[in-house]
This record gives sequence, structure tokens and C-alpha cells, in this order.
Amino acid sequence: MRDVKVRFAPSPTGPLHMGGVRTALFNYLFAKANNGQFILRIEDTDQARFVPGAEDYIKEALEWTGMHTDEDPWKGGDFGPYRQSERKPMYRQYADQLIAAGHAYYAFDTAEELDEMRERLKRAKVPNPQYNAAIRMTMKNSLTMSSDEVQAKLDAGEPYTIRVKIPRNEEVRFQDIIRGWVQVNTSSLDDKVLFKSDGMPTYHLANIVDDYTMRISHVIRGEEWLPSAPLHILLYRFLGWEDVRPEFAHLPLILRPDGNGKLSKRDGDRLGFPVFPLEWKDQTTGEISSGYREKGFFPEAFVNMLAFLGWNPGTQQELFSMDELIETFKLERVGKSGSKFDADKTRWYNQQYLRMKSDDELVQLLIPYLERAGIEYSTEKLPIFVSLMKERAVFVEDMLEGRYLFERPASYDDQTISKKWKENSGHIISEITSLFEDSDFTADQLNEIFTTYLKDREIGMGAVLPLLRVLVSGKGAGPSLFDIMAFLGKAESIKRLRDGVQTLSNG
Ligand code: GLU
Repeated sequence: MRDVKVRFAPSPTGPLHMGGVRTALFNYLFAKANNGQFILRIEDTDQARFVPGAEDYIKEALEWTGMHTDEDPWKGGDFGPYRQSERKPMYRQYADQLIAAGHAYYAFDTAEELDEMRERLKRAKVPNPQYNAAIRMTMKNSLTMSSDEVQAKLDAGEPYTIRVKIPRNEEVRFQDIIRGWVQVNTSSLDDKVLFKSDGMPTYHLANIVDDYTMRISHVIRGEEWLPSAPLHILLYRFLGWEDVRPEFAHLPLILRPDGNGKLSKRDGDRLGFPVFPLEWKDQTTGEISSGYREKGFFPEAFVNMLAFLGWNPGTQQELFSMDELIETFKLERVGKSGSKFDADKTRWYNQQYLRMKSDDELVQLLIPYLERAGIEYSTEKLPIFVSLMKERAVFVEDMLEGRYLFERPASYDDQTISKKWKENSGHIISEITSLFEDSDFTADQLNEIFTTYLKDREIGMGAVLPLLRVLVSGKGAGPSLFDIMAFLGKAESIKRLRDGVQTLSNG
């Protein structure tokens, strides 16, 4: 295999969708798995769609997810610049080369004339009206005008485009690493605009020229670009670059969790999960779109989840660090069919990564949340706090659920009280409280005292334990009650139990 060099080539038209991050990831994994290079190229030829801030967003998203670029607009490289807008002077010569070889031509049709043409074809019941081999000879271009006329128009500075001349009725075939053989008849293709008189290439020309001049070996991109691939194949041929043409791999779509469509921002809003890696604020509308980072997802979990959208290792293993992904990833194991996004699974990944963190790490991650919530915590008890709370947490922030370990409950879980509080409950709890009070208050001891008490009086666990929990923590569920009580210590636990009995007996 030739030296591997891949590019992630987003257009800065808004925040990067998680599908875009997955494209970057598969490029990154493939590059690193093959000792290759991963570069970032900004495709900003369409100035009308340029969105301020989008470029920095892309950079930040790659950094957050831990994908390191070998060349990019900021660190540069031997094949720069890495923004297409800065490469503007490089493209014209290739458009000229295509014209000289008879593979492209000047077109002078105005917007109105193009509309007229489409109307005319529609009336003639042409299903998909486009500028192609069948109609180009009826239009205003250098194929239908004399060279003097064409020159006169160019000299007069009339606006023009340069269009590719797609051959009529020819099979274009190429092998896609994921899809296998792809075959398309050129009669379904149109004479796409490659270059405009403002001096800017369109996506198609710029993309091909850059992949060639940057020595890209593999083009790994979303399925939405598959229809453009035959044109790209033709351009490589027309420009005489077939022997260095990159290989193609078109990634399957990420589908919405319900139904079959492509996952969109609307699905995220509707079903309550982010579709962007980082939060994004639209500068014109002020609208905020949520991001995985701000929702508290670990980048490792996000990456792991994304890797499984379209790829699988062929084993039972589900948890992969970036290094393990690099070791295991094979483009051949990427499937053809779309893969459904699963918000629960994404949360599951986060939970797994949370559990893998050491208590010390979790303490450091938790402190900012405790501060923000204004909880008066004891630093030395934080390691025990996280060891108690992490089992039930999906996000670091979830551990704040255990704030009752540092402060008295402000209220009691209604459901438990209304279901479990009976006439003699206060009496039973007071008796147990007194027994607790006479102990050394280790979790084991408390447990022992409690079970013996129930056994002696033939009282079921379910009649008392939930009430004790509510009085101590305010909650209907949580970590082991006796661990909680040992954490709080004797004085505090006893106080909560006695106060609780009093409140509920009076209420
Ligand atoms: N600029 C295109 C995009 O925004 C890149 C397509 C490609 O990778 O060729 O997705």
C-alpha cells in the first residue's frame, strides 16, 4: 500500500455535526493504524455559506476528542495553505488544462437562461432537468459559439463559469473500500460548474486539486458524497492523475434512533440529546445548540460511541480507548448500511468511563460542580463520597444527588412516605435508633443491629429500610444506607432519624 495520508475536509458552514466528527475519527484511526498522516483542510470555497466561529469550533472539537493533526491551517505543513480560500491562485491552471484538453468549456448562460432551460425541459417531461450532454449544444457556451465570440465575451469581462464536459453514455466504475464496485452511467451526471469568473473554484475542482497536490492516498468521507465520486473519478482521469488517484471509502449514514432518516439536529432537539460535540451559539439568532462536552460526556466515551456507529471489531469488546481503536480499526470492518444512533447506549458508555476513573480523578472532576452548587463539602471525605455515589452516576454531576451526605435533606421523598409510613413506624424507628446509638457505628455493625432487630420482631425489611433511608437522606434510593450512616457519623445520623420521626409523627 502507498504511504497513507488522509484528510478531514469540513466546510466551515456551522458547528460540526457528530457525523462530521465520526468522519474525522475514521480518517484519524485509519491514518494512525497505518502509520500515516492525518491532515485538516478547510473547504471554504463557498464564501456565501461561511460562518464565523465555525473554523475554531472544528479545531476545538478535534482537540477535545483527542485527534491530533499532522498538518492544518494553524500549524501549517509542506502542502499548505490549508484553507481553500488561501489556495485560490492554485486552481485556475487546472481549469485551463481541462479546457485545453476538451474536457471543460466556458458557459455564459445567465441565471434566467438557466431557469428557462429547466422550465423548457420540465414542460417536455424530462424528469431531472440538468445541464448535460443532451442540452449543452442548445446553450450559450464555448461549444456553441465561435472562438472569436468567446474571446470577445471574456475580454469584455462578462461573467462565466467553466463546466466539465461529461461524456455521453459511458460507464464509470470504481472500487469503494466499503461499498465494493460502484458503477454509474455518465448519462445521469451533469456538466457541473468547476470554476467561476470570480476566480473561485467550486467544491469539486478544489477538492480534486487539493487531494492531488496534498498527496492524499485515501478519501474517507460521508455517504452523501458518493454521488459526486463518479465526477471526481472522471476529473482524475481528465487531468491525467489516475495513477495517483486516492482510493475511496464512503461511510454509512448515522440514522435517527426512531425511523430511517439521517440523524439531524431536529432529532436531537426532539428526543433530547446533543448532535454536536461542543455547545454552539448561533451568532445571528442567539440560539444555543447543546454539546456533548457541556452535557458532561467524557471525550473518551463520545469517541468510543462514535467508533461503533458504522464500525465494529468483530468481537464482544465494547470499550476501546483511542489507542485500542487505532490498534483494532480496519476500514474493511465498516458496514455499508446506516447505523442507528442510540442515546441510551451513549449514556452507557459514559457510565462505563466514569466507573473506570479513579476516586481521586473523580474528586477533582467533582469539585467544580460542588462549588457551583454551593455545597459545603469536607475535602477529606470526598474520596469516600465519590466511592459511594459513582455506582449510580452516568455523569460526574449526577453524584451531586448525594449532597445529603454533606447537608440535611430539605424534604422527604413523598412516594416512600405515603407508601411506607404506618402508625407504628415512628415507634419502630425510635427503637432502632436507640440501638444504633449504643453501637460503634460501623456499616457492618449497623447492618447487624438492624437485621437482628427485624428478625426478633418478625418485621419485614421492606417495612422499615425505605423509611430509614428517607429520614437520613430524603431520597427513595441511593447507596447502601449503612454506608451513608457511617459516612455521616453517629451524631448526625441519630439527629436526622430522631428529627425525622418527630416531623412525620406530627405531620
Ligand atoms: N467539504 C466537504 C464537506 O464538507 C468534504 C467532502 C469530501 O471529503 O470530499 O463534507
